[in-house]
Amino acid sequence: LFIDHPLASGQAVALNADQAHYLSGVMRLPAGSQIEVFNGRDGAWQASITAASKRGGALSIGEQTAMQQDPPDLWLLFAPIKKARTDFIVEKATELGVARILPIQTEFTNAERIRQDRLQAHAVEAAEQCGGTFVPDVAPLVPLSRLLDGWDPGRRILWADEARVGPADTLSDLRRGPWAVLIGPEGGFSEAERLRLAGCDFVTPVSLGPRILRADTAAVAALTLFQAHLGD
Ligand code: SAM
Repeated sequence: LFIDHPLASGQAVALNADQAHYLSGVMRLPAGSQIEVFNGRDGAWQASITAASKRGGALSIGEQTAMQQDPPDLWLLFAPIKKARTDFIVEKATELGVARILPIQTEFTNAERIRQDRLQAHAVEAAEQCGGTFVPDVAPLVPLSRLLDGWDPGRRILWADEARVGPADTLSDLRRGPWAVLIGPEGGFSEAERLRLAGCDFVTPVSLGPRILRADTAAVAALTLFQAHLGD
């Protein structure tokens, strides 16, 4: 269970009604049960439920069970698509180990705005599900042009570009990071955006194969490249 609270042995932690309901109502765990908790910064800890009801509950923190495992310093930049598939991208990116998730507004992005708090909650749920100890930060929606204007060139961008063909000649230097992966919207990038990206020397285009992938498939495929190459 994710609890946004400092963790130390013997610590008493109050649970909000949602967390208490999840433990007592959904998981049907009575007081005295043992669970594992994490706060995204201090690793995983054993905890015992000292109270849990519909109104709230409490935990007593026991021993640390896992050290903090931060993912590789990899960011995902993606243009939001339809709601359920945007949720899917955030969940899979969390499972595949990204440090930050930055939704970007491009010319053909069909989502005018996003619910950042809802996406952040999806990242928490994905971290809980995959037994991670880290939760990536989901940033507010930002226009691609503004993102590039303020970009730190010390972080390279791997631009998944369906117009690019042939084997990637960049995979060997994937270790030379840090990196961000850029995935476009269902409508792809506009000509102006393609020109802008091609003109940035910190941007490296990469093909994900000869077939056109849906944006959520492309996000998973591109992040898996790193997962396979970096192994962590
Ligand atoms: N118009 C098509 C569509 O509606 O599905 C193509 C857009 S595609 C879904 C969205 C993004 O996925 C692209 O902007 C690109 O970032 C990525 N993508 C899809 N296929 C790719 C490929 N074969 N190689 C590299 N990137 C790809």
